[in-house]
Amino acid sequence: MSVPRGDGTTVVRLRRGASISDFADKIDASPGNLVTVLFHLGEMATATESLDEATFGILGEELGYRILIVSPEEEDRELLEGFSIDLDQELEDETDEDLQVRPPVVTVMGHVDHGKTRLLDAIRNANVVAGEAGGITQHIGAYQVVAEHEGVERPITFIDTPGHEAFTAMRARGAQVTDIAILVVAADDGIMPQTIEALNHAQAANVPIVVAVNKIDKESANPQKVRQQLTEYGLVAEEYGGDVMFVDVSARNNINIKELLDAVLLTADAGLDMRANPNKDARGVAIEAKLDKGRGAVATVLIQSGTLKVGDPIVAGTAYGRVRAMADENGDAVEFATPSRPVQVQGLSSVPRAGDTFLVTDDDRTARQIAEKREAAERNAMLAKSRKRISLEDFTRALEEGKVESLNLIIKGDVSGAVEALEESLLKIEIDESVQLRIIHRGVGAITESDVNLATIDNAIIIGFNVRPDPKARERAAREGVDIRFYSVIYNAIDDVEASLTGMLKPEYEEVQSGVAEIREVFRSSKFGNIAGVIVRSGTITRNARARVIRDGVVVGDNLAIESLRRFKDDVTEVRTDFEAGIGLGKFNDIQIGDEIETTEMKEKPRV
Ligand code: GDP
Repeated sequence: MSVPRGDGTTVVRLRRGASISDFADKIDASPGNLVTVLFHLGEMATATESLDEATFGILGEELGYRILIVSPEEEDRELLEGFSIDLDQELEDETDEDLQVRPPVVTVMGHVDHGKTRLLDAIRNANVVAGEAGGITQHIGAYQVVAEHEGVERPITFIDTPGHEAFTAMRARGAQVTDIAILVVAADDGIMPQTIEALNHAQAANVPIVVAVNKIDKESANPQKVRQQLTEYGLVAEEYGGDVMFVDVSARNNINIKELLDAVLLTADAGLDMRANPNKDARGVAIEAKLDKGRGAVATVLIQSGTLKVGDPIVAGTAYGRVRAMADENGDAVEFATPSRPVQVQGLSSVPRAGDTFLVTDDDRTARQIAEKREAAERNAMLAKSRKRISLEDFTRALEEGKVESLNLIIKGDVSGAVEALEESLLKIEIDESVQLRIIHRGVGAITESDVNLATIDNAIIIGFNVRPDPKARERAAREGVDIRFYSVIYNAIDDVEASLTGMLKPEYEEVQSGVAEIREVFRSSKFGNIAGVIVRSGTITRNARARVIRDGVVVGDNLAIESLRRFKDDVTEVRTDFEAGIGLGKFNDIQIGDEIETTEMKEKPRV
């Protein structure tokens, strides 16, 4: 068996979620051979299954390659290179003359109830531009105000989704939209946990901070104490010789709002290069998006460079389309939007996520292709992540394959008596010497994220006795593929564990509907019997699927199979919703116009 080997330093880049086939492609090997190599290393995988980083690591090491798994952002960059779009190069090619000053983009962060929302309202209302007496009326996720600063009117963009969750979410997706953070601290409450969190996020992102000491109208306000407290976190006020501007404000009474805007502009001018090239195709980030009943997907995007125009083909994350219309925060139609301008865009195929980057492409086709490639990449990455670790059902097989030697359990229950009783009974199960049952953790209360973490590390199964996971734990377990089983009767739990240890626990299956087709015509053929001319009403009809015929809600033929499936003259393997097809049900000929053919498949049933 020949597999081209690396010298131990050869780097192979693979996207997250890649399979053995992808790896084989890169090193010009046969996927089958790589499957065999991996098998000898004690891991079983098919050629097209997504592998995780660790498995690639093992395989790579054996063959003399250093496998580098590239992140979605890097991959996106590579994907765009495939379309001859190189965003970094674009920036490098820009000269000073191309760049024009753009407004700063500001995010308001801080502890809950310290007044973020109120402050954003106050700033919105302080917008004193002539002719806009009504102020900003629409919530689109961001708005721009104009502040008079040293005699010059200057716009500032505010991200109107307060809280650092949105900020972090965007950063996690690789989008840095904020130039400056306003850290709101209530003067009557001082530094609180989320104040510190917000501060850490801003500092990690290298975003300068302006501190708004809020609620100074309150009697119990102590703005100096806030300054003092923050010095411990490296935020030293200018008046104490530091470089951070603190402004005492009252969002409620509109005190010092203008001063706060001044501080933002001074901070921006002191340390930031806020310029962008408006004369090119627009690039930016989606800040907020939703599905609107009348208008379809609407997304607020923040332009970071270039100019966005009505009619531009655009791709945002996995959504694509053409800018059909744009509106600003006043609900007014906008024809074009320049850097730092937030606008609500209509015309996308689906709803992008906050933090998705968007760009304008040369034509509709490119936009669609980029979106489709991104979607495929995301799907693969998801698959790799959600690969099942181990479940009670596949424990026996894993044991036989030598992948595990012990069944590790975590037991959580509602009362300690139950947990102890369960543990005791489980440890009494008689098992073969080759297997071990280990209870690596037990406790009272809901299943938490740390339980799930432990389960991922030790490849354990979690048993919940009258308890459920909290939402974070549930989400993490789903993502990591951790098996959590719920019981309310001790014996059922013992039975299942015992069955799996002795190889008896088989998965249970249930029937689920996979497709429904309506018969519109019946073709009689002496050779093939009756053929149903159908239109698929829901799901997908697949060849060989189990089928039944239903007439006026009554089953007239059961245990049938889709023996032939055709579109026009061609045999096909599946036909999707809204398509027409010809179906033959073998010897079964009792079909009439108006009958429904329902197909089903067996799916593994989650146990309760
Ligand atoms: P968020 O959770 O940070 O968005 O806080 P909110 O903006 O919702 O404000 C929390 C509470 O503090 C609300 O009841 C506000 O009316 C109140 N509040 C906000 N700013 C001020 C202020 O400057 N002075 C006073 N007295 N109350 C304020």
